[in-house]
Amino acid sequence: MALLRQGALELGLELSDAQLAQFQLYYHELVRWNDRFNLTAITGYADVQTKHFLDSLAALPLAAQELGESLPPTRPLHLVDVGSGAGFPGIPLKIAAPRLKVTLMDGTGKKVRFLGELISTLGLNNAGVVHGRAEELGRTTAHRGQYDLVAARAVAPLNTLVEYLLPLVRRGGLAVVYKGGNAPQEFVDARKAIETLGGDTVRFAPVEVPFLDEMRYVLLIKKVRHTPDQYPRGQGLARKQPLS
Ligand code: SAM
Repeated sequence: MALLRQGALELGLELSDAQLAQFQLYYHELVRWNDRFNLTAITGYADVQTKHFLDSLAALPLAAQELGESLPPTRPLHLVDVGSGAGFPGIPLKIAAPRLKVTLMDGTGKKVRFLGELISTLGLNNAGVVHGRAEELGRTTAHRGQYDLVAARAVAPLNTLVEYLLPLVRRGGLAVVYKGGNAPQEFVDARKAIETLGGDTVRFAPVEVPFLDEMRYVLLIKKVRHTPDQYPRGQGLARKQPLS
């Protein structure tokens, strides 16, 4: 995990040997389960360290700064990772910032099964998995407005994604969105939706992921107002007719 250790340092995170061992075990489990569950196309040792682990960690310095937190944050903030898939970005964030309470949410049963096994194999405390779609769970009292941080990577176009994420954020909390090279256009298309849902964009910035020569952006949206009760809309409307 030499790339990860060095890259994390460049992000301002010093990972201990115990944390690096957890990442090593995560890599091993990811590759082992991938044969059966088709979790990710990225399985090379170096690629997983850069494209999954470091990419997941790259938003943490910005989010911590916005929250006035140290790096890693020491408060037990509650983060939900929406559409976590094989655990990104939620699991790397939990390993690097162990004081976070982390919930991994996904609509696909086999991903949820993998994530549950992974949490117990890695011995993570204050981490759990929820099976369901964000636009349905965002209408329940158990999840709506319950999270300090709501993160998502590679789940949906931004104008759809914000309808999944913002209902879950508590007022004053942050949505942390990971995006690739098309982010500037997606941001323009989602501006109105962000406002309608009670969000205010506090940061939209390109981020450099160590050892990765690809464009990445992080968008931080603060929830400044209550999300109107009619959102998220059901029946796939967030996807089929994004707010505009
Ligand atoms: N976030 C991971 C990553 O960056 O590697 C996984 C990305 S994968 C392309 C998208 C994941 O989001 C899938 O596991 C899918 O089941 C989940 N997903 C898509 N839409 C969702 C929704 N509305 N609610 C919950 N999960 C969703």
